[in-house]
Amino acid sequence: MNSNAIFPLLCLAAAILPMTPLSAGTSSYTVVPFGTTASGQPVQLYTLVNSNGMRADVTNYGAIIVRLLAPDRTGRMDDVVLGFDTLDAYLRETPYFGALVGRYGNRIANGRFTLDGKTYSLATNNHPGGVPCALHGGLVGFDKVVWEATPLLVANTAGVSLHYVSADGEEGYPGKLDVTVHYWLTNANELKILYSATTDKATPVNLTQHTYFNLRGEGNGDILGHIVTINASRYTPVDKGLIPTGELAPVAGTPLDFTSPHAVGERIHAPDTQLALAGGYDHNWVIDRAGAGLAPAATVYEPSTGRTLEVWTTQPGVQFYTGNFLDGTLAGKRGVPYQARSGLCLETQHFPDSPNHPSFPTTILRPGEKYETATIYRFSAR
Ligand code: BGC
Repeated sequence: MNSNAIFPLLCLAAAILPMTPLSAGTSSYTVVPFGTTASGQPVQLYTLVNSNGMRADVTNYGAIIVRLLAPDRTGRMDDVVLGFDTLDAYLRETPYFGALVGRYGNRIANGRFTLDGKTYSLATNNHPGGVPCALHGGLVGFDKVVWEATPLLVANTAGVSLHYVSADGEEGYPGKLDVTVHYWLTNANELKILYSATTDKATPVNLTQHTYFNLRGEGNGDILGHIVTINASRYTPVDKGLIPTGELAPVAGTPLDFTSPHAVGERIHAPDTQLALAGGYDHNWVIDRAGAGLAPAATVYEPSTGRTLEVWTTQPGVQFYTGNFLDGTLAGKRGVPYQARSGLCLETQHFPDSPNHPSFPTTILRPGEKYETATIYRFSAR
């Protein structure tokens, strides 16, 4: 299907019939302006709706998921992701709400790595425990750039394709990296994210999605009662700078054991060195997998609404982060300040600081190779 051909028609329909209810069974997209960046680049908001009325609002600034409306057990839709109503709020300050993170998601120790005998220096934009590191791609990571976006409607599935070319040397990383990410809102109530990239020089790549979920609805309290299962019998313990020690440690016998379901709040204050270092859960779990391909990473169940989120990925790891650094200074879409633990992230990824850990699965992409990963966030209610 030629998406370029239907795009103007849908825009026209949206302009003429803004209040027209969706016809059941039909997926659609609409596009509206979302503002202008400080450098004058116009930015859009892409609304994807699936055949069940589930909706995702995505902006091409930072490839940010602004809203995600998912049904509870009675069919009631609510926005289950943290974020802001306006582009200006995202431009002012955001702890990566909803953002596409890269070129290297998570941390690189001291902002340094050596590749093929050459040492590269990155901005150290984060200092947990007073120790400097490079976090989430640098000062202007992929979460703060304008992506070239194309809305899509293929086989009654709405999506948006996002493209960004990161210049050789951008944020200190070698190689021109050509990145395409697809967000699809499938009629199985899945947000399906497909990442791909190529480079002209060897470079580390670790792309992830930093959405903070609250299955009660954003601004509707904390996530301590969410019940989490993580398909991982090991994790990567960290030092005081939240950098992996290099060990793949068993979760058994620790509060990080989510191989069976546990409420987030059940053990979050347990006396445990790892929880103390991170101020809660903020670790990379090593997904148990039989081989390559999509594997279940985690499940989150919210008892009061019945909303359930399943995360599937081709990635080797998942960062389970419980919003420990949220402190009430940012107010979200309902105007409610986001306190600590008002959302949780499940960032599918390669292990943090992999460029400095030869024993971890490699994150180095070389010319002629194609970086390709997939992650699915699947919603249901019970
Ligand atoms: C990291 C946290 C960090 C947060 C930034 C997460 O991916 O694991 O340590 O503070 O991103 O908002």
